[in-house]
Amino acid sequence: MEKVLSGKIVAQSIFDRISRINLYNTIPTMALLSVCPSPASDFYIRNINRQGAKLGFAVKEFNLNEYTSLEDFIELIKTLNADKAYHGILIQKPFPVHISEDAVNLAVSPTKDIDGIHPENLGRIFLNLEGLFPSTAIAVMEVIKYYNIQTHGKHVVIIGRSPIVAKPLAGFLLQKNNHGNATVTITHSQSDNLETISSTADIIISAIGKPEFVTATFIKKDAVCIDVGINQIYRNGKQSYVGDFDYNSCFDKALAITPVPGGVGSVTTAVLFENLVKATLRQLDDKNC
Ligand code: NAD
Repeated sequence: MEKVLSGKIVAQSIFDRISRINLYNTIPTMALLSVCPSPASDFYIRNINRQGAKLGFAVKEFNLNEYTSLEDFIELIKTLNADKAYHGILIQKPFPVHISEDAVNLAVSPTKDIDGIHPENLGRIFLNLEGLFPSTAIAVMEVIKYYNIQTHGKHVVIIGRSPIVAKPLAGFLLQKNNHGNATVTITHSQSDNLETISSTADIIISAIGKPEFVTATFIKKDAVCIDVGINQIYRNGKQSYVGDFDYNSCFDKALAITPVPGGVGSVTTAVLFENLVKATLRQLDDKNC
């Protein structure tokens, strides 16, 4: 296995897979909603627009503002759910305080939910049923599959417990299949002895958004380190991005490690478009029934 697990190669393999799919002359179309601009979200939106254009897919932005009421927001989602011109809906965070994330997640039609945030889709992961699942959690699984990282019987420690990354990932890794069958431990900000627990892991996945939090003392020799965190930092007057792992201190001890940038983040956008394709094909199927 390569020491540096590049996400760019994995992303390219997904884009290649997408390009071979017969879309029956339909242009997959995404509605991309945002309420509050943020540097991280602006970066992600630019990336989505660029990749969408490369694939020949359509991305239509709906830029609301921080004064948009919850009612108007939900009304727009309902309109997009019913509009056959849109195959997938992606809603960018952050939200202003008066916008309930739960209400938004519940409003998106599960069949257009390309970010996998609807409870129905999240529940399907744990029952091993077909559905649309969170892109970042799938992206981690794509890295595991591409580099043939053995999970069967292995101890995987996930640091973080968010519903969009850590929990769905635990669901995937517990499934009875070639890339599951792992013993999964979820740790979080209230876990005692985190360092002791993580240093027993064969695979450590961190998704907490804390720059360089996971140092060499958190990992055992020859552990596989998968970094989901993308953290903006300022060092020596310069802005850059680092992960949750202290890459330099973990590098020698790890069997393999994903870089930031160029790791899981690169794969996430590719998975998002694969989700859009899945949603599109399913809607075409439903129309033909
Ligand atoms: P979140 O804020 O929803 O969840 C963070 C989790 O980390 C929480 O569950 C919390 O319990 C845990 N946590 C916080 N501090 C901790 C600590 N000291 N020790 C242990 N656990 C701790 O965040 P999220 O949406 O899951 O995102 C996490 C990170 O992943 C962020 O850096 C985000 O930018 C990044 N992210 C990356 C991608 C990608 O494509 N690579 C996609 C989404 C999010």
